[in-house]
Amino acid sequence: MDRSKYAILGDIHANLEALDAVLADAKEQDVSSYICVGDIVGYNANPSECLDRIVDLGCISVRGNHDHYCSHDESLDDFHPLAASVVDWTRSQLSDEQVKFLRSLKLTRMVKGFSIVHSTLDMPEKWGYVFDALDAEAHFSYQSTSVCFHGHTHVPAVYEKNGRVRRRPFSKINLGLGTRYFINTGSVGQPRDGDPRASYVIYSPSEHTCELRRIPYNLEETQNKIRAVGLPERLARRLELGR
Ligand code: ZN
Repeated sequence: MDRSKYAILGDIHANLEALDAVLADAKEQDVSSYICVGDIVGYNANPSECLDRIVDLGCISVRGNHDHYCSHDESLDDFHPLAASVVDWTRSQLSDEQVKFLRSLKLTRMVKGFSIVHSTLDMPEKWGYVFDALDAEAHFSYQSTSVCFHGHTHVPAVYEKNGRVRRRPFSKINLGLGTRYFINTGSVGQPRDGDPRASYVIYSPSEHTCELRRIPYNLEETQNKIRAVGLPERLARRLELGR
């Protein structure tokens, strides 16, 4: 029996204030292991510091699309223009070692009986977005574990498959036997479900529970940093809207 208590974090996006608030909460909740579903960098002003935190925690992570584009010289043609505008700046902030670290991250990982991916297991390199049960169908044919965690949309959700796939919002769920779960942890550093608080999940395999945690943080500080380094104003504004 795996007695670990996991903090599953994702879409940190270089938001140090949100990450530190989440890590403080996880510590209070007696979390024993840290897992990241990708997008450590991009959008906010502290990519290097957030990467240092992840490395120091010994956090097992997969590569998100922002982690990918900030560590590979590839065309940004199919990247959202607002996201693309931050890639060059982010690259300039990372050490060679940090770029190497991002490149070394795998797209999918198995962790003690559960799996993690940034987007979906069917075509992780295509960075597909899952917003509804239909989007999740193809993914489930590749999910062999009962639980898989992901991110990418910045919207927390549970997709459960027992026969057909159903989507439901969640605060705390009991994991049932014979059902498979594809769980979006929401975003630490740039939530988009209308709630500006940082989002992450605590997973306890021995108790068969998954709990969504929402953590307030000093977002004015994050906004000030975005403005100070000259990143787009829209990136600062959206943090207070949670969009
Ligand atoms: Zn993201």
